[in-house]
Amino acid sequence: MKFSYKILLCCMITVAVAFGIGGYVFVNDVFQASLKRETGQAMDESSILQFAFETAALNIPSKYDMLQNSVIEEIGANLEKSGQVTGRLLRISDENRQVLYASQGFGEDTRLLEQIQEGIRAYQIIHPDERYYIQTGSQIKALDRILYLETLRDVSGVYGERARGFAVYRNLTLLLLVLSSIFLFFISSWLTRPIRLLTQAARQMTEGDYSCRAEQISSDEMGQLTCDFNHMASVLEENIRKLENEVRAREDFIAAFSHELKTPLTAVIGYADLLRTRKLDEEKHFLSANYIYTEGKRLEAMSLRLLDIIVTKRCSIDAQDTQVEVLFSYLKEMYGENQEHPLKISFEPGQIRGEVNLLKSVLLNLVDNAFKASEEGSPVEVTGAVKEHGYEFSVRDYGVGISQSECKKITEAFYMVDKSRSRSHNGAGLGLALCVEILKLHGSQLEIESALGQGSCFHFQIPGSWLQS
Ligand code: ADP
Repeated sequence: MKFSYKILLCCMITVAVAFGIGGYVFVNDVFQASLKRETGQAMDESSILQFAFETAALNIPSKYDMLQNSVIEEIGANLEKSGQVTGRLLRISDENRQVLYASQGFGEDTRLLEQIQEGIRAYQIIHPDERYYIQTGSQIKALDRILYLETLRDVSGVYGERARGFAVYRNLTLLLLVLSSIFLFFISSWLTRPIRLLTQAARQMTEGDYSCRAEQISSDEMGQLTCDFNHMASVLEENIRKLENEVRAREDFIAAFSHELKTPLTAVIGYADLLRTRKLDEEKHFLSANYIYTEGKRLEAMSLRLLDIIVTKRCSIDAQDTQVEVLFSYLKEMYGENQEHPLKISFEPGQIRGEVNLLKSVLLNLVDNAFKASEEGSPVEVTGAVKEHGYEFSVRDYGVGISQSECKKITEAFYMVDKSRSRSHNGAGLGLALCVEILKLHGSQLEIESALGQGSCFHFQIPGSWLQS
């Protein structure tokens, strides 16, 4: 069942119960008051009749000491006549509770007669046919006789009024239910509109439209729920977008990796087959074996870089406080004797927090690339300086440079600006990708400034570094 229908049903039940109970209490209260009034009047009437009877008995001259039954009947008939206008009925019984006089239609019911005692005026409500009566009973002492006087007062009108009251209330309740159901239908539809909008948005999202949002139409709890739902949808959309990008990047990575693997492997298989199937002269034999060796080396370098990338992607670093001098001395040691490219190193003393071996790998890659991009004799400068937010390392060369559009791509795995040139240097387009991953682990990023034909400057800051005191 729809939520709006449930609200409607609950409200209708509440209205019906409230109106029903209210109506019953009100009508019944009016009825009880009327019945009480009628009972009071019946009792008053009974006492007036008792008094009238006793007076009449005293005033009737009698030749006997005893009040004769015939006299009693006569008084009874006179009393009945005097009350004919009000439709009053009466019955008079003797000491043995034997009926002496009864109005026509009084009935045979003697239950009250049995209960009448001296000094007590009793009453009961009887319903002998379709009419209702208040029956009263009292004892009369007339001369030497003890008699019982009973009266019947018709109160069917009071019961009829009660039945009419219930009928009016029942019809009123039905009318109210019909009217309130129309009114409540619109109210419940209006109240549940935010839920319908949320459901609609959720369905659209399930169908793949992650940009869909629910319209916020109120500022109450439902409005808050819509706001939270929309926020959740935004976060979800962002995460899905990230995941999609990651999957795409992974697919590109695998495609590039298989391509990079295929080229050297084809050459290795081709030359190995040549060596295996033909007898070559010494020079060709050496060239073939050399080709297999260099391509094998390239594959080895590629697999090592890949392994490095995978390891850095999974681990956190083992950071330690280190003097920057350690890194620069290492570079001097590695490239100080390089005859082709003079390496100029200048740095401010300082201390950094990071994993030394990983940072050495970054600097080696950058200097290596700078050498590869430079003409023979062209210098490569490595500098270190303390900045406001960390220690900055820069590697500058005056080589071929990189265009602006290429700058954005060279940090992607397997991307090479000049493939044949890179491959001739055992490159596979993984060095800078590795640098980016390592710097990410240090909370840093690689910045590239370059102009075609003028050279490049690669720099990065290790945060949380400080000047050595
Ligand atoms: P590789 O192992 O091929 O050097 P890298 O990821 O280190 O891979 O570099 C990607 C590409 O970026 C290289 O193929 C090269 O073309 C370009 N590159 C990197 N450093 C420089 C530089 N200093 N000057 C010009 N081009 C560079």
